Amino acid sequence: MTNQIVINGRDDPKPHFVLVPLMAQGHTIPMIDMARLLAGRGVHVSVITTPVNAARIKTVIERVKASQLSIEFVPLPFPCSAVGLPEGCENIDTLPSKDHLHSFLDACALLREPLILHLKEQKLHPSCIISDVCHTWTGDVAQEFRIPRFAFNGFGGFSLLCRHIILTNELDKKTSDEMEVIVMPGFPHHLELLKAQMPGSFGGRGMEKFAEELKADQQRFDGMLVNTFDDLEALYIESFQKAIGKKVWTIGPMSLYNKDVADMAARGNLASIDENHCLRWLDSMKPNSVIYVSFGSLASPIPPQLVEIGLGLEASNHPFIWVIRAGDKSPEVEKWLSEGFEERVRSRGLIIRGWAPQVMILSHPAIGGFMTHCGWNSTLEGVTAGVPMVTWPHFAEQFVNEKLLVEVLKIGVAVGVKKMTRWGVESSEVLVKKDDVQKAVSTLMDEGEDGVERRKRAREMGKKARKAMEEGGSSYENMTLLIKQVQTDMLQLA
Ligand code: UDP
Repeated sequence: MTNQIVINGRDDPKPHFVLVPLMAQGHTIPMIDMARLLAGRGVHVSVITTPVNAARIKTVIERVKASQLSIEFVPLPFPCSAVGLPEGCENIDTLPSKDHLHSFLDACALLREPLILHLKEQKLHPSCIISDVCHTWTGDVAQEFRIPRFAFNGFGGFSLLCRHIILTNELDKKTSDEMEVIVMPGFPHHLELLKAQMPGSFGGRGMEKFAEELKADQQRFDGMLVNTFDDLEALYIESFQKAIGKKVWTIGPMSLYNKDVADMAARGNLASIDENHCLRWLDSMKPNSVIYVSFGSLASPIPPQLVEIGLGLEASNHPFIWVIRAGDKSPEVEKWLSEGFEERVRSRGLIIRGWAPQVMILSHPAIGGFMTHCGWNSTLEGVTAGVPMVTWPHFAEQFVNEKLLVEVLKIGVAVGVKKMTRWGVESSEVLVKKDDVQKAVSTLMDEGEDGVERRKRAREMGKKARKAMEEGGSSYENMTLLIKQVQTDMLQLA
């Protein structure tokens, strides 16, 4: 796996990249893949984390140690009490409510001094920082060490451009009618969005100030890294790059770092299912026959919505793997599952309560479709696996990702949800009924002409994704260029 690059000569110092992920699974997972990709290319990497988050990714840390990749995980104590957060609340998925997001980001910013101190103690001087776009405070750390800093943004190119256009034109303020159709001015092609589906401000207490900080930070960082690839999104990345006036590097799909089952299964939290059991179950199914249903790490549909999903899957008659966050959190769903549903679907349904080894599942030949909430990582993982998707966006930029899958790539079938649910705010509404779930699954898995063409397009894009990450591929070469640039900067500063 080590395709080390010698940049300017044998005695060049080893570059030291400092990665500062945002502590939310959808942001941390790709940055850990990034760390391993960089280390595989001869770079020393420090990954900044916190004790609770380090414990969660214990398996990954152990695997990295065993692989002898030059990566150090640095757990800095997280100052919960200083900002009034409950002790141990070190990840966005454990916040008591959305209104705590601002305190959480304040606590992150308090890591500035401990990080500077830690880096000062290291033998290897840092060469650059790659930090989540939300960690604007890392600008001061980069300044302290006079090193470049790149922002990692968990969005894809299509949604980055869309969000940029919305914010610079204040499109979200132009109408109060949530159902008004808004055309994106200056988008490379015609694109319409409902006001209700626009990724704009974060919402939540104190977040306007943070939005301003993000905007200001755009002037400070030296470039942006995006988990995507040129064959998928070059058009949007080019426009976005022009719009922000900064270099944007496409370096994905980074999930492709994970080649063996153990790596794939260890991503994120510990899986709530034995991976061998899961693989045996998948092995027992016909190729392309199973639909995998998951809504990522943050969305949590209300119990009556989960029941509609279950009934729709049952009525579709297709085999399925369904990831639900029920268990202790939702006794009523557990009750419903055990009162007949699980028994009725036993021969063709596998329910995973908690955390699924998603990339491992998606890469199995039995998977024929993915019902997704369109978080960017899941969207890209579905594209990479070459499977068509049922799109069911919930919040953030997910409706925009749906547009990319359904209208542009034509590898998605929309379940038909129009309104955002708000992350962290319980909705009392059932947005999609059983019949719509069934209809979307049946359309996706259909073996008629449309279904076959959709599957073919998905497979082709999956091939292109893999090519991008191979030696000579666009993302592979972009990573080489990035490392070279950092090394050149190091030599100039020396
Ligand atoms: N994921 C996983 N197992 C789960 C749920 C999520 O491995 O049970 C991973 C998934 O593969 C993806 C990430 O968690 O890499 C979720 O990121 P995404 O951007 O799709 O959505 P978010 O969770 O940020 O809404």
